[in-house]
Amino acid sequence: MNMKELIELDKKHFIHPTSSIQLQQEKGAKLIIEKGEGIYLTTIDGKVFIDAMSSLWNVNIGHGRTEIAEVAMEQMKKLAYSSAFSTFSHEPAIMLAKKIADLAPPKLNAVFFTSGGSESNDSAIKLVRHYWKIQGQHDRNKIISLKRGYHGVAVGATSATGIPEFWNMAGHMETGFAHAKNPYEVGTIKSIASIREVIENEGPETVAALLVEPVQGAGGVLIPPSDYFQEVRKLCDEYGILFVADEVITGFGRTGKMFGIEHWNVEPDLITFAKGVTSGYFPLGGVIVSDEIHEVLKEKSEGVLFHGFTYSGHPTGAAVALKNIEILEHEGLVENSRLMGEELLKGLKEIKAELRIVGDVRTIGLLGAMEILHDPISPNLKLAPRVIEALHERGVICRAVTYDDSDIICFSPPLTITKEQIQTLIEKLRESVLTVK
Ligand code: PLP
Repeated sequence: MNMKELIELDKKHFIHPTSSIQLQQEKGAKLIIEKGEGIYLTTIDGKVFIDAMSSLWNVNIGHGRTEIAEVAMEQMKKLAYSSAFSTFSHEPAIMLAKKIADLAPPKLNAVFFTSGGSESNDSAIKLVRHYWKIQGQHDRNKIISLKRGYHGVAVGATSATGIPEFWNMAGHMETGFAHAKNPYEVGTIKSIASIREVIENEGPETVAALLVEPVQGAGGVLIPPSDYFQEVRKLCDEYGILFVADEVITGFGRTGKMFGIEHWNVEPDLITFAKGVTSGYFPLGGVIVSDEIHEVLKEKSEGVLFHGFTYSGHPTGAAVALKNIEILEHEGLVENSRLMGEELLKGLKEIKAELRIVGDVRTIGLLGAMEILHDPISPNLKLAPRVIEALHERGVICRAVTYDDSDIICFSPPLTITKEQIQTLIEKLRESVLTVK
């Protein structure tokens, strides 16, 4: 089918996720992607783009990996799907749970599977509430998270999300959720003081868990100071609150370590993950819980744990995830993420040194950001979206973050990216920033 016909059908029948329905109706899809190879995406009309966001921060091993397709085909031929409810099980899910337990921090050894990040965070919220309930602490059900945090679009995950734009569509649960200031806004000491204040205001005996991303991704790649999570851990221990690290973006090598929280050398009680676990080749996520939580669940849960998705532990998804992790390990992609992140930072710093419009630049592995400084004459004018447009014209897909007063360009390329490809990205970025300066 040709591009014009596809655009008409798209407008008529396809409600796009996180998009402006009006714009979609008016203009139709701008890019109809047909294929992917490495860091590149090609549209149906033959335009080639560098996918500098790994699509939605998730295609960590890059596009077009036929090894994954082969593993999926073999698994589908053998057993495409079978339930993991109750006492049913299958080898791929068992082996994936073991593999993830081996990779996760030492005390986190049991995994509950989901189909993606939002389901993982909603599952974590329900698991921590259940954990307290079966120990007689029925009132411990509140979740504290940070402003600018993004945790997904299921009802619990939306409510934990600290970006109010996501509450506009259909509201959010105000009871049971509260948000504290993040370290990007105010630094470690004040952010910790803000979390403490929220805990005290809510009543410490009513707080179940703190849910935080090691690096806030959708909020604008906000990297906390080096002492932040030690302080978070101390505060959680002081109040006996569980600490959940949302590693949906930061997990599986994105930050130059297997899990982002390793940069701070602390252990959370739960980790939620998705995206990079399969690099987008299959929708799969999950929650890793500590031995302590696992023991309590085993000893004190009564009857059936009424929580499970049809696709929890999907055998094909699990086989894909195992192959994806094998690729990450065999090709040294976590290390490449660290090294290429340094290259990316070097390039971003060069642009900053040259162009006064550029503010803070930062990377942690292959998660990076460039801030655009506000023009004092028109402080509300956001320029990052224009840079994104200019990048687009030069064959690069990137993402702007413009919540609150921020004006940020984000980067999250596949972990396979090379030094030369980073240089090309930097050149195109420099040209694009020049168009708005
Ligand atoms: N948590 C974080 C940190 C995310 O960045 C995302 C998605 O971008 C989610 C959760 C939600 O994941 P999903 O879109 O797979 O539901």
